[in-house]
Amino acid sequence: MPFSSLGLDDALVRAVSILGYVAPTPVQTAAIGAILKGADVLALAQTGSGKTAAFCLPLLQGLQSLKRLPSTPTGAQQDLRKSIKALILVPTRELAAQVGDAMRSLAQDLPVAVKTAVVFGGVSINPQMMGLRGGADILVATPGRLLDLIDHNALGAHGLSQVNTLVLDEADRLLDLGFADELARILALLPAKRQSLFFSATFPQAVQALADALLRQPVRIEIAATPATQPVILQRAIEVDAPKRTQLLRHLVQHNEWTRVLVFVATKHAAEIIADKLRKAGVDAEPFHGLLSQGKRSQVLADFKASRVRLVVATDLAARGIDIAELPVVVNYDLPRSSVDYIHRIGRTGRAGQSGIAISFVTAESDAHFRLIEKRQALDLQREIIAGFEPVKAIMPAFAADATDATAPGTGGIKGKRPSKKDKLRAAAAQLHPSR
Ligand code: AMP
Repeated sequence: MPFSSLGLDDALVRAVSILGYVAPTPVQTAAIGAILKGADVLALAQTGSGKTAAFCLPLLQGLQSLKRLPSTPTGAQQDLRKSIKALILVPTRELAAQVGDAMRSLAQDLPVAVKTAVVFGGVSINPQMMGLRGGADILVATPGRLLDLIDHNALGAHGLSQVNTLVLDEADRLLDLGFADELARILALLPAKRQSLFFSATFPQAVQALADALLRQPVRIEIAATPATQPVILQRAIEVDAPKRTQLLRHLVQHNEWTRVLVFVATKHAAEIIADKLRKAGVDAEPFHGLLSQGKRSQVLADFKASRVRLVVATDLAARGIDIAELPVVVNYDLPRSSVDYIHRIGRTGRAGQSGIAISFVTAESDAHFRLIEKRQALDLQREIIAGFEPVKAIMPAFAADATDATAPGTGGIKGKRPSKKDKLRAAAAQLHPSR
């Protein structure tokens, strides 16, 4: 089905073709028509599915007719013209910037100009207040900063009272990050009569409750993964001793000649230390986490996208929303806390239908946790061992119970034991497939 059959104006059809989109993704096919008709939408959509354009395109189309003014508008009409008509709430600054960019590139050639403002915390509020002075049609915002701006009376005479369309993007993440109170405050400021669009990658109970409270007879969109949208992500699990992970990472990067790798770690501190170690070992690496200034974070992302940096060591801050085209490899150096985070992390690769590899390092200590993630995701990954990095710590906790020489009670660690039959099999497998 071509974009032109979705009911979009020619100018928007042209805009998508300039961006190189040949056909709508399934979430776009399902959502665009419904949104154009004015329905509320509840969409289960992962990043990478094309969900951003699924709401940007119909929003822009709606604004084209709404903004056409009489040839001699009155002052009040002029004033209304500057008011915010669509509000897009997102969980992180990175996603805010990304949605803003997508909206602006889709809007660039429209007959009626549409202004998109993007606001988020962690940077000075003043430039954002200045940016809002002339008004904006679309506001992309993180909830905390939006409330700050409202408290500063920065949204103009009409505030949020003229919002026709509300979008919650990555609603599950908004709740995960503890934005429930901020959301409640913002929702109370919106007109009751409006269209609401709700996008979430997962639907735990709290998210469902929020959707129920927000939406009126929504069109439900739940796209079964099809080859077109289901990125081809090869998931691998490599067993390794925890202290050997940096060396293994370096080995994999160099041996496989990976040019762009996103590595996830558990803490900001780890991101710094590991990036530093890698740099000293000759791998061009940068840390990426919430303690860096917004300017530094943008710089790292820009360098990564432009291939000036080969490897980024990030906390889960980078797990959602960040869209790096052609990111072939994601490595879980530390495992994610939950299976939902696992999906978000590995979803950084395999974007827009491209293939990618997601590797998880599994240590004796983290094996049980990884099994839980696998169970939740209905996965059963074969453990690999890389020659030269064979774990000396046994992974099976069941062995530890029988062992008399366990070095770390309770962790299942058995150091220096004679190789078991299983160990020998592993070593043999590693010989056969040294780089798998
Ligand atoms: P999203 O799920 O919105 O984060 O989009 C993921 C990526 O898919 C972005 O890089 C978009 O530019 C790209 N994209 C969105 N729609 C299409 C489409 N119809 N065809 C090809 N790529 C698309």
